Amino acid sequence: TFHSLRPPIYLPQDDAPISVVDYALGYALSIRSASCWPDSTAALIDSATGQRIPYSDLLKRHKSLSYYLQHVLKLSRHDVALVICPNCVQVPILYLSLLSIRVVVSPGNPLSTGSEIARLVELSGPTIAFATSSTAHKLPKLRLGTILVDSPEFESMMIRTTFDLDLDHGPQPSQSDVAAILVVALCRSSAVAAGERASPPVLLYTVPLFHVFGFIYSLKSVALMETVVMMPRFGLDGMLKAVEEFGVTDVAMAPPVVVAMVKSGSSERYDLSSLKSLVIGAAPLGKDVIAAFKAKFPTVELAQGYGLTELTGPVSRVLGPEESKKWGSVGRLYGLLEAKIVDPETQEVLPPGKQGELWVKGPTTFKGYVGDPEGTIENMIINGWLRTGDLCYFDDQGFLYVVDRLKELIKYNGYQVAPAELEQLLQSHPGVADAAVIPYPDEEAGQLPFACVVRRPGCILDERSVMEFVAKHVAPYKKIRRVAFVNSIPKSPAEKILRKDLRKMVLALLLTT
Ligand code: AMP
Repeated sequence: TFHSLRPPIYLPQDDAPISVVDYALGYALSIRSASCWPDSTAALIDSATGQRIPYSDLLKRHKSLSYYLQHVLKLSRHDVALVICPNCVQVPILYLSLLSIRVVVSPGNPLSTGSEIARLVELSGPTIAFATSSTAHKLPKLRLGTILVDSPEFESMMIRTTFDLDLDHGPQPSQSDVAAILVVALCRSSAVAAGERASPPVLLYTVPLFHVFGFIYSLKSVALMETVVMMPRFGLDGMLKAVEEFGVTDVAMAPPVVVAMVKSGSSERYDLSSLKSLVIGAAPLGKDVIAAFKAKFPTVELAQGYGLTELTGPVSRVLGPEESKKWGSVGRLYGLLEAKIVDPETQEVLPPGKQGELWVKGPTTFKGYVGDPEGTIENMIINGWLRTGDLCYFDDQGFLYVVDRLKELIKYNGYQVAPAELEQLLQSHPGVADAAVIPYPDEEAGQLPFACVVRRPGCILDERSVMEFVAKHVAPYKKIRRVAFVNSIPKSPAEKILRKDLRKMVLALLLTT
């Protein structure tokens, strides 16, 4: 078993009545008093409008909104709140407020289609939704309706209550309560020693707040009193401009943005001298890209991190300039976790240097998938060990390397695409006899969803019509971007798609055409 080499982190006991929000805000307070950063430090900046919310104001807004949600809207710990918003300054305040009154947060991708959102609603059973004027039309009617976070009404919910508030926390929270459908155990974010700088770090997120990376980061930034610049719509030029304009020191991103920075000539047009580090996660980053980045931006640290939603985000990360010399590594284990590398066939536990499936144990392991009829959790968590489905190895200094993905998941630009969802959709097409979806390597996006389709006899079906059919039903990042027509899909006697065989078959097919 591999133990973390980082300093230990002490969590509140399971019966300790402290919520994640109290913990984050308490931590922020201790940083504020220790570092003497002024209360006027910006907590949130909207890159489009330049609106700044200082820490003093953030706390007032959070209190006022929490009070409104609890006493006017009557939300309580039995409620689930759907949040379908692009990145904007209101969302972190909303997360804090919902969590502080112990409402379960269920964030979803704002690019989802109406039917994808309907499925989310069916699964998580929200009583209320928070959306923006650009996403609200996709939401079904919920018991308490939909609140627009970009409306004047929402603004007034955050600033109207001026009297001293007492929130009713109800029964004492337990550390094992579900904090979000993504599940939050934010506490370990304190392991990230960003608070050691002379002035508050200025972070820019290109990662979405609905993904565990952005969700955890937004809470961790409050805990560490960092300034966060929010970009409602990502664009490379917009990001570089914001770095110059707001003196951004750290950017959180998925690998495709690093590729774009390397390839584009735009970076020369902006003053990026404030930039200290890029925190990269959600998908693998190629060694060639790292080399090209280092050549172009020699003073910027590249810190890779690795994590998964099922472990509430971070599992390992590169910390500091010394560690970032380990090119290609996703860093060392976080302080709360243990890990082992297991041979996928024999289940034998392997030593450093040997590749196998990464298993992780720790208090941040998720509680299961909502509405999981197949009992996936049974196969995923064994004696408290979560099987990550990633092929990895540790070197003898405890640095982790991710080699490949054993599980079915496809990652397009860092976004999750589940093959089974697209397979079901393809199979509903009258011209399709059978179909399977596999990842196809792509330099920019990481992987593309690739469909292997068996035509129904007598049906005329071409690549374009397959792609258009899928595109009509799913969010843009889930689109099928390549198609191969095959005679059959290789399957096991139990009708399981043999994805490895299919990948080989497709590769051979593409090489001969
Ligand atoms: P998600 O739950 O969306 O964060 O997806 C988790 C999966 O993304 C992991 O199981 C990995 O397959 C992949 N992943 C995340 N970070 C990295 C990384 N730094 N390198 C390689 N794969 C990664």
